[in-house]
Amino acid sequence: MHHVELLAIGNELLLGLTEERNISWLCRTLTRAGALVEQATIVGDVAEDIQAAVRGAILRRAGLIVTCGGLGPTDDDQTVAILARALNRPLEENERALALVQQRFRELYEAGDVDSPALTPERRKMARLPAGAEPLPNAVGTAPGLLLNIGDRTWVCALPGPPRELQPMVERALLPRLGELVPLAAFRERHYRAHCPDESVLAPLLREVAAQHRDVYVKSRAAAYRADVTFRLLLATRAPTPAEAEARLDAAEQSLHEVLRRAGIRLEATSGNDEEGPASP
Ligand code: ATP
Ligand code: MG
Repeated sequence: MHHVELLAIGNELLLGLTEERNISWLCRTLTRAGALVEQATIVGDVAEDIQAAVRGAILRRAGLIVTCGGLGPTDDDQTVAILARALNRPLEENERALALVQQRFRELYEAGDVDSPALTPERRKMARLPAGAEPLPNAVGTAPGLLLNIGDRTWVCALPGPPRELQPMVERALLPRLGELVPLAAFRERHYRAHCPDESVLAPLLREVAAQHRDVYVKSRAAAYRADVTFRLLLATRAPTPAEAEARLDAAEQSLHEVLRRAGIRLEATSGNDEEGPASP
């Protein structure tokens, strides 16, 4: 309850024309900020599918439902209208959203990026939000995002599709408020490399560590490291306080060292930067 669910919207994602990047970035960013992300879905630009996904998240008692894509001025950008219908809220011109759209087009006009700063119907469309929504400024593109409380401690946040627009909006407008929307815990992770070429040898050892530390996530992943095959190991936990999270990881790390030492496997701490990280926007 009060977890986060993510919904990436766009036919181009399902056709494989655009590589989906917002979900993985949001998972990492929101998790590290302390939220519990429990489910993520990709749907096409199909009203019934978007509505079903949002209603499903509400039924699962998500505390925050984050959508990405479909906020722009074109006719296929229907996310906001579909959200309004799914949430039974009238769609209306939002004064603050209109001011944000106007300001962005003035800035783009002054920079020579658009021919006119006029508020055309297509531009005004981006300021039509479900009643009660709060617009989120878009520092890169033109369509504001939105944040809306739909009652029963459930929030909906709609973000733009392009990662270069979505990421600054999350960092500037969503993360500072995340603690008001969903309960946050302290998330901590530690990374290691185990010098062992065989995951089937590691598996029972890691199972032993996991059984001793049930609130720590223990994960191994194959990694080619120079000529060796080694395994990257991850310990991660969400705890009520940072001190508690660190204490849990200290204890799990100690067990990991002991168990692997017994098996003659060398373990080395790493920064985790050799993980397949996010592709840059
Ligand atoms: P715009 O105002 O640019 O139209 P939008 O909010 O309407 O933004 P979309 O029309 O859904 O967003 O997507 C615009 C572009 O953003 C897509 O063509 C794609 O390149 C990129 N994009 C959208 N969603 C994703 C995603 N989940 N992962 C990666 N790229 C995405
Ligand atoms: Mg669009």
